[in-house]
Amino acid sequence: MPLPHPTCALCPIDWSERYCRKPGGKAPKNCPSVLQKEALERAREATCGEHLAFACEASRQEAAGYANREQGYAAVQPCKPRIQEIIEFARRMGYRRLGLAFCVGVRFEAGRVHELFESAGFEVASVVCKAGRAPKADLGITQAEHVDATQEVETMCNPVFQAEACNEAGVELNVLMGLCVGHDSLFIMHAKAPVTVLAVKDRVLGHNPMAAVYQLDTYYRYLKNI
Ligand code: SF4
Repeated sequence: MPLPHPTCALCPIDWSERYCRKPGGKAPKNCPSVLQKEALERAREATCGEHLAFACEASRQEAAGYANREQGYAAVQPCKPRIQEIIEFARRMGYRRLGLAFCVGVRFEAGRVHELFESAGFEVASVVCKAGRAPKADLGITQAEHVDATQEVETMCNPVFQAEACNEAGVELNVLMGLCVGHDSLFIMHAKAPVTVLAVKDRVLGHNPMAAVYQLDTYYRYLKNI
């Protein structure tokens, strides 16, 4: 019989009392920490085996993102923006070459990030989403489906090519910046090196999709009915 699927996001146990947070904690009936012992063991073997260095440095970077840790939970204070964490994590891993796969819509910001990574001592391969100039017609997309429907030819976003170009450059860590929903997935499917995300695209909210989540009961309540 299949196990019930996990719903951690809807966990009824207070965070301070949860099974996954403290020994002897409480768990709901479908808790994956309690039920999925084999998956947990496979994860432990992979994390503490082939991914040990990566997981270890990610954990160290996580802690390094807070000040006042020696004063306890109530006093810890976030102290580093994500871009700093990416630089520090890449250094911890000993990486020298980064891939920067970005959307043409954030090309100005991507230039700043490219320069910043270089000034931090990395070699950078940056590839824009439209690289390759492949036409959307290759996908069977019609003119009416173009972003600019007045144009006969429109260049597609080509995240598979972005990934291939980063692979070709021998990057050790890919950084995504503003790729579209789905295009980001295709990049991740084809990248040889690990992928992290600096920014996700949200055309309306200045690339801060959480803004809609924060306002889900007010201005964005219509989302509950789409
Ligand atoms: S792992 Fe278990 S206790 Fe933790 S949030 Fe998920 S359901 Fe709740």
